[in-house]
Amino acid sequence: MNKLSEIKSGDRIAFTGRILSNPKKPLVSSRNAVRAVIGDSENLIQVIAFDKEGDKLNLKRGDLVKITNGIFSGFKSAKQPPTITLDSRTLMEKADINFPSAEECIKKKFIDEVNDNEYCAISGFPVVYRIFSYYCNRCKKFTDEMCDCGNFPEPIFRISGVFSDSTKTIWFSTSSEETAEDLSGIEKSNAVNTDIKSIMAKPQKFLGYLHEGNFYVEEVM
Ligand SMILES: [Zn+2]
Repeated sequence: MNKLSEIKSGDRIAFTGRILSNPKKPLVSSRNAVRAVIGDSENLIQVIAFDKEGDKLNLKRGDLVKITNGIFSGFKSAKQPPTITLDSRTLMEKADINFPSAEECIKKKFIDEVNDNEYCAISGFPVVYRIFSYYCNRCKKFTDEMCDCGNFPEPIFRISGVFSDSTKTIWFSTSSEETAEDLSGIEKSNAVNTDIKSIMAKPQKFLGYLHEGNFYVEEVM
């Protein structure tokens, strides 16, 4: 499968790939969602499942899986990264064939080469500005500590700031609380004690995608 760009949104596809990020819950989801990044040597795609179908993503980084009858979306619409959604008709099973390693599947890029809505890995130095975000469930948007509507949303552990390599500087934010835990080495219950300086003290390698100038970090590598 290397002609994904020719596939229409809504088509059912088969894809064999390696799980490149541990399955995680998105920061904000109206339904109970789990997602992971999967790839072969040509394409990196997010796999997402909702509610009880999430059990199908009970896998670990490095596992090789074969998906049959997944629902494809992305590329043409270009408002999201390429995506395979699992539903009740989708079969996802472990595969046991010769296949490129996780390292070989991950596309490394300089920041100025990264296309919008494309998964890739970037290396560089983060400058952390914030470790909490606030999402108002009433207004369905990220807000300040107090939303315009008067609501005080629960803080979400989300590390954000800017990220630079030798080519460019962009915004970044972690895309799940588990990713923030991985980056900080701190559990979300203890997030207030995050040592921002230690995150910024060494180069970081992020797997994620760029969307409207912000790099959403799916996995800290
Ligand atoms: Zn609100």
